[in-house]
Amino acid sequence: MQTNNPSSRLLVVDDEEDICEFISFVAGKAGYAVTSITDSHDFIKEYSDDVSIIVMDLTMPGMDGVELIRHLASVDSKAGIILMSGFDMSVLHSAKELADSRGLNVIGILEKPISISNLEEMLDRRSKPREDCSNSKENCNSVTADELRQAIQNNEITNYYQPKVDIASHFLVAVEALARWHHPEKGMIMPDDFIGLAEESGLIGDLTSQVLDNALSDCAGGKSKGIIVQVAVNVSAKALTDLNFPDQLQKKLIEHKLDPSQLIIEVTESAITEDISHALDIFTRIRMKGIHLSIDDFGTGYSSIQMLHRGPFDELKVDRSFVQRMETDQDAHVIVETSIVFSKKMRMKVVAEGIETQELWDSVAKLGCDEAQGYFISPAIPAIEIPHWLIGWKQKQLKLCCA
Ligand code: C2E
Ligand code: CA
Ligand code: CA
Repeated sequence: MQTNNPSSRLLVVDDEEDICEFISFVAGKAGYAVTSITDSHDFIKEYSDDVSIIVMDLTMPGMDGVELIRHLASVDSKAGIILMSGFDMSVLHSAKELADSRGLNVIGILEKPISISNLEEMLDRRSKPREDCSNSKENCNSVTADELRQAIQNNEITNYYQPKVDIASHFLVAVEALARWHHPEKGMIMPDDFIGLAEESGLIGDLTSQVLDNALSDCAGGKSKGIIVQVAVNVSAKALTDLNFPDQLQKKLIEHKLDPSQLIIEVTESAITEDISHALDIFTRIRMKGIHLSIDDFGTGYSSIQMLHRGPFDELKVDRSFVQRMETDQDAHVIVETSIVFSKKMRMKVVAEGIETQELWDSVAKLGCDEAQGYFISPAIPAIEIPHWLIGWKQKQLKLCCA
């Protein structure tokens, strides 16, 4: 089972030989050069930087999965890791959390008995971006801080907008601004490939300011055409250093002649946990100015109930990783359900992210969720396409009502 592509080495580590054989068979078919390891002590001998994927069992005699995770973190491994276990999902989730927190790249978790399609899908997901990049002259994800600085100066960063709709009335209530970089040579670059860079290189303040200006200007433009909606802007923790941020928001709202209630600032849980008093100072003043404040990706961070209680948030967005698994994973269902109940008790509006199907829409509607966002409704689109999307959405609503 050899492959011509030297970058696709895969190690499978499990003390059960039949599992190793099964994974070798599936991965071999997917084009990987597989090495099976049944004694975890051999892992250190076999592992090298050119390993692309490691599929590992958590429970093994000798060195268990948690110890392997520790070892991989110590050598700064860049391999994609698939964790598997015969234990229930909670053990797998906590091992994944541990590996993530140690900076490793977990690409999937598999409960035994292993489903072929789940494994194939994980291997496929891992190999596709590499193929795409290898076909292009440039590495499609690699951009430099200088390029980004230039892009901000040249206004190459534009906003796409993803609609957010009220589940009961189906009305469009808000759009979320999602940054897109139209690179003159590399084409469209997605935020996951430049937000981190902006944060590390001190450009996040300028980037946020540009996204905000564009969002408020598009929102004012929509208002003049009779489309009055709120606009949400993502603000990362690193952009919340300046205590004058709420004043800057207010100034921009006045410049664009918009009511503060038309703006929603979305922050992730990490922004709440980094420096609580600093964050509370900014958040409280944002709300005092009449601007809305939303907790994004809820469930993926470590904010305490006490902090959520103390913080002045009026919206909570349940992370799409839970929403999308809620039909197949009981734990994810419990997290979505509890988040909805919790938000209601705390008098916050609750939004389900990642609604891709009618089934998911129905599930969150049944749990009493207020608003929904996701590909079922619309992906992020340019501002100019929103009126056209609205016409299509009204037709789809009729079908939803009759379903
Ligand atoms: P986010 O704030 O959680 O935004 C939602 C992301 O999920 C968007 O990806 C959106 O296109 C995608 N999405 C929405 N519905 C679905 C769905 O049904 N299925 C799937 N699979 N995906 C869906 P995008 O645009 O690539 O943005 C990724 C992240 O980058 C955002 O996550 C946000 O954290 C960050 N980001 C985007 N724009 C900005 C910005 O201007 N400033 C900052 N600080 N972060 C930004
Ligand atoms: Ca967001
Ligand atoms: Ca989110």
